[in-house]
Parts: sequence; structure tokens; C-alpha cells
Amino acid sequence: MINVYNHLIGYNIKPSVQRIAVMDYLLKHRTHPSVEEIYSALSGDMPTLSKTTVYNTLKLFAEQGAAQMLTIDEKNVCFDGDTSLHAHFLCKRCGKIYDLPISEPMKETLESNIEGHSVDELHYYYKGTCKNCLEK
Ligand SMILES: [Zn+2]
Ligand SMILES: [Zn+2]
Repeated sequence: MINVYNHLIGYNIKPSVQRIAVMDYLLKHRTHPSVEEIYSALSGDMPTLSKTTVYNTLKLFAEQGAAQMLTIDEKNVCFDGDTSLHAHFLCKRCGKIYDLPISEPMKETLESNIEGHSVDELHYYYKGTCKNCLEK
């Protein structure tokens, strides 16, 4: 069981009640939730919470490296509490985002410096139809 308070401190984020709630949600729901989803899940218990606060909190997490901001779905920015290197697959039919492993050859191409540019973020996005939708 992860201690969310210390988790935030580890990323140099001052743990406020709202930040703890947002990070807690992110760590417990590995479904790549959107701002909308997190807001509607938390606002019942936290009437003072606004959608803007949720968005700003998630943006801060992404800036501090505590979460990944996914723009795989151009209509809906999503967030991932799993910051390990993995690819994402968006099902164009049901809109679900799946985690996919990154293959060894792809990992080998990872460099922090490419043609003089300093790289600190990498996003691998796949789109298609997921296995659950294919079975229907
Ligand atoms: Zn699907
Ligand atoms: Zn993910």
C-alpha cells in the first residue's frame, strides 16, 4: 500500500488534501482517467473541488514527473499514475486506453540525446480496435 503523502513529497509536490485525493485516485485507477472522470469521482466528497483545480493539479503532477499526461485521444487529455516507460493503445471503438509493453528494439532506440536535442519524454501511441471489441 503506497503512502500518497510521501509519494507526493518524493516528487517535490506539497501534499494538500486535494492533491492527495487526486493522486490517490490516479494510483488506484489505472484506467488513464480524464480530468472529467476524476472530478466527478471526487467532487461528491469534496464539494469545494473545482474542475480547474483538478486540471491544474494533474498538470503539476505531469510537470513534476509524478504522472504522465496522455494526448492519445485528441478530444480528451488523460492521465496515468504509472510513470514507467510503456506504450498506450487507444481503442477507436470503445475509447478505452490500454497499457502495452515497449519492445526491446524500441527500448534500444531510447537515448536522452538525439542529434543534439535533449529528450526527457517519449510517447508511444497505438490506435485500433481492442480485443474486447473485436470479440463482439
Ligand atoms: Zn474497444
Ligand atoms: Zn499507461
